[in-house]
Amino acid sequence: MNIPDKVKVGYKEYEVQMEKHLDDETNLLYGCCYYEEETIKLCTKYTENQQKCTLVHELVHAIDNMNDIGLTEDQVVKLGKGLYQLIKDNPNMFD
Ligand SMILES: [Zn+2]
Repeated sequence: MNIPDKVKVGYKEYEVQMEKHLDDETNLLYGCCYYEEETIKLCTKYTENQQKCTLVHELVHAIDNMNDIGLTEDQVVKLGKGLYQLIKDNPNMFD
């Protein structure tokens, strides 16, 4: 799994941007999803594995937003981790 430049979620096409610093004064941020701008930012100071896991997490946010599901942050965290593990464990699932 490589980190793509763009990911489609419904009718939106998110641009994936790599950033050296994403943290603000109070939060340590691995990534961020901007629905209106259709942009996902990933922080490059973490491992590639972490960046991929963060991308899946932000995509769960994007899917939640697109489909108006109303997931809590805790649910997004757990779904993101579960999906990332599933993708890693079954890389050829749809070949
Ligand atoms: Zn989140």
